[in-house]
Amino acid sequence: MKRPVIYTDLDGSLLDHYTYEATEALPLLRQLEQLGTPVIPCTSKTAAELVPLCKTLQLSGPFIAENGALICVPTNWPIPMPTNSGRIGAYWSHSLGYPRAALRAVLDSLSGDWQRCYQPLVDLSVEDVMSLTQLDARAAARAQRRDFTETLVWRGSDAEYSQFTAVVTQSGLQCVRGGRFVHLMGPNTKADAMAWLQLAIGHYLGGDLVSIGIGDADNDRALLEATDHALLIRSPVHAFPSLERKHNIYFSHRCGPEGWTEGVQAILRTLLGEEALA
Ligand SMILES: [Mg+2]
Repeated sequence: MKRPVIYTDLDGSLLDHYTYEATEALPLLRQLEQLGTPVIPCTSKTAAELVPLCKTLQLSGPFIAENGALICVPTNWPIPMPTNSGRIGAYWSHSLGYPRAALRAVLDSLSGDWQRCYQPLVDLSVEDVMSLTQLDARAAARAQRRDFTETLVWRGSDAEYSQFTAVVTQSGLQCVRGGRFVHLMGPNTKADAMAWLQLAIGHYLGGDLVSIGIGDADNDRALLEATDHALLIRSPVHAFPSLERKHNIYFSHRCGPEGWTEGVQAILRTLLGEEALA
C-alpha cells in the first residue's frame, strides 16, 4: 500500500503569504493526521519559529528548518538518533548545514562593493524586521535567530542578484531566494534533508513510501525536483518556480492554504483512489 509523506514549505504554501494563517488547510491537516500521513514542514524558518508553530498547527512529526540545514525529529519517534545530535525541546536535531559564523566570514570576505546590495537580517532592529515581515515582536526576534543561514534583505537589482549568486557559488556557498528574503547558505538543500529523512522514515513507517513536495518559490526548487510528486502553490506576488521535471507535477489554481488543500487532495486521489479522502 502506498504511504504518502508530505514535505511542505510554509510561507506562501501551507501558510498565507500575507496573514501567515493556515485556516483553509486545517480540516485537511486533521484528516491527514487520522490517515497517518506525516506532514513535515520544510522551510527557511528557524527551529525557534517552528517549535511553537508545529504546536499551533498540531503537527506532531519531524520538521526541516533553515532551508534544509537542520532536521528535527520528536524524541518519541522511533528513528535512531545519529551521533552528534543536538537537542531542541522535545526534538533531537541533526545538522546538514554550515554554521552561520562561517557563512558570515565568507560574506565579509567578498568585495565591499556588494555591501550596498544587501542587509543581513540579524543586523536589523526587531522593529525593522517587524515592518518587513508583519510579524509581531517575539516572532520577528525568532525569525532573526539563525544558526545555518545568513538571511539577507536584498536591496540591489535582479541583475546584481544574478552576479552576486555567481560570486557566492565560486566561494562554495549558494544563495536561494524565498518569498521575502535571500538566504546565503552551504551547498545543502531542502532536497538533501528530505532524502535523509525519507530514508529514516522508511524504516519507521514501512510500506511503499511516496514523497510529495510542496512549495511556491525558488528556494523550494530542489525539493520540488526531488520528490515523487511536486505540488507548486500559486503565489500572489511572484511566478511559479521553473522546474525541469515534466511528470507528477500539479500547479495549484488557488494561492496559499487554499491551493495547498486543492493540490494535496488532487495528488492523494491519484495515489490512493477517489475514496481516500471521502
Ligand atoms: Mg514559500
